[in-house]
Amino acid sequence: GARAFPGLPAGKRLTVLSGPSGVGKSTVVAELRRAHPEVWLSVSVTTRKPRPGETHGVEYFFADDEEFDRLAASGELLEWAEFAGNRYGTPRGPVIEKLEAGVPTLLEIDLQGARQVRATMPEALLVFLAPPTWGELEKRLRGRGTEPEDVIARRLAAGRIEMAAEQEFDLTLVNTSVQGVCHRLIALLADAPEDSSLG
Ligand code: 5GP
Repeated sequence: GARAFPGLPAGKRLTVLSGPSGVGKSTVVAELRRAHPEVWLSVSVTTRKPRPGETHGVEYFFADDEEFDRLAASGELLEWAEFAGNRYGTPRGPVIEKLEAGVPTLLEIDLQGARQVRATMPEALLVFLAPPTWGELEKRLRGRGTEPEDVIARRLAAGRIEMAAEQEFDLTLVNTSVQGVCHRLIALLADAPEDSSLG
């Protein structure tokens, strides 16, 4: 939905990219990393195990449950959420530091996390990444078709609920092309838009 932006310069306003699981957030972030090193991407802490090719401190800081508990309890996380059996959180200190320095700052987090940012940093710009069509998301959620029908049904139901979160966001970018989404994000990170009817 449209909302007025407080008069913060873009560099000092946090931008959050979120959206339903399977929509392609991490592909967008990988392309941003490659093409736009001037944007600072927050590195989350997670209790998930590293996937092949992931490096501690690059995609994530990998932590055990005890370390995550400590970070969450001591208020060092700007937000955190449990997703598919693992916990993920945004270290607060580096985000504040970059924003204060005027560095364009982006978080790529799940919908629960985006809601927490909305509550604690109302001036943040929340961007919803949407699939071109529901059918496209369904195809991605079904994946290789190796999962039992009840698991697929659960993922689809979750996906429908996730799509409804769109109305809580400032604007929507439709993921028709990774380059296109990156381009729009860069524009948003570079200067405050006068209206939020983009996309
Ligand atoms: P994956 O395990 O596939 O890297 O990420 C799973 C989900 O966790 C994705 O939807 C991703 O956006 C989300 N995620 C990654 N980091 C964070 C974080 O710091 N906070 C929250 N709330 N979600 C995160």
